Amino acid sequence: EKMQIMSAREEKILVLVRLRPLSEKEVEENEEADWECINDTTILYRESLREGSLFPSAYTFDRAFRGDCTTNQVYEEGVKQIALSVLNGINSSIFAYGQTSSGKTYTMNGVTEQTVAEIFDYIQNHEERAFVLKFSAIEIYNEAIRDLLSSDSTPLRLRDDPERGTIVEKVTEETLRGWNHFNELVSACQAQRQIGETSLNEKSSRSHQILRLIVESSAREFLGKDSSTTLTASVNFVDLAGTERASQISSAGTRLKEGCHINRSLLTLGTVIRKIGHINYRDSKLTRILQPALGGNARTAIICTLSPARSHVEQTRNTLMFASCAK
Ligand code: ADP
Ligand code: MG
Repeated sequence: EKMQIMSAREEKILVLVRLRPLSEKEVEENEEADWECINDTTILYRESLREGSLFPSAYTFDRAFRGDCTTNQVYEEGVKQIALSVLNGINSSIFAYGQTSSGKTYTMNGVTEQTVAEIFDYIQNHEERAFVLKFSAIEIYNEAIRDLLSSDSTPLRLRDDPERGTIVEKVTEETLRGWNHFNELVSACQAQRQIGETSLNEKSSRSHQILRLIVESSAREFLGKDSSTTLTASVNFVDLAGTERASQISSAGTRLKEGCHINRSLLTLGTVIRKIGHINYRDSKLTRILQPALGGNARTAIICTLSPARSHVEQTRNTLMFASCAK
């Protein structure tokens, strides 16, 4: 298979970390919170203040959100500028990366909703342009792609289109009729994602979810006259599989296979992020699908979600190492 090399780009990836609060259950179980954001950009491992600690003590990122920050803050201060660049015809992706239970879905659901709400708002206030919004939702599980807007569970295939790049064949693309319609579709996705959850033991923690909003627009005065005035771009909201599986060695056959696939996708994503200039996008379906959103002039934010709990310290450190590499 041929390698696809993208040219290096100047813009860096925005790396945000979000620490969640201890859950009620964790508090009941007398779990200790070992991590703390000491300012807007730095997270500190409290234990490192003790003598003889072997761990680095503090990690600095573009932005560090404390446990009491709201998702609205994460959106406003971290995600908004990148996500809304889709209105100017620039592709973008927002990732949530972290172990299961660290807050990926909580964060991603919130920022997706806020972005779409703001885009609807923008459209209402810019009547000089005509907009069309298209929404699609897929899940990647064991390298099989499933359409979350369809009840048909047949895996979808990828195809290389000479003009459009890698496309997901036959994926449902719903043209949004309004805010309620968007919410209905999101609910339908969540229901689809939960099917089989009990039998497969939290499948959602082992699959990637990509929600994609495509924004097309053209100036009304040129409508129908010149198609070259149409702007098209997409914003991807990517809720990644739990990262703990990537480092876990499992004996069971399927689990191992699963672990390898997740590992591969996450490793490729790690490579994408580290060496954004030279990418073999064919390494996994995740990166193939996101290819247009990761290269060229596309913009990317990664929200690394963290549990403060002492029992999660290993995973938290792994996530912080990844986040440091992504900077
Ligand atoms: P993940 O998707 O990474 O497995 P979730 O988003 O499902 O994790 O979060 C796990 C639990 O913690 C959920 O009950 C969620 O509501 C809660 N939670 C996550 N992040 C926060 C936060 N920042 N503030 C309050 N509750 C949170
Ligand atoms: Mg989740």
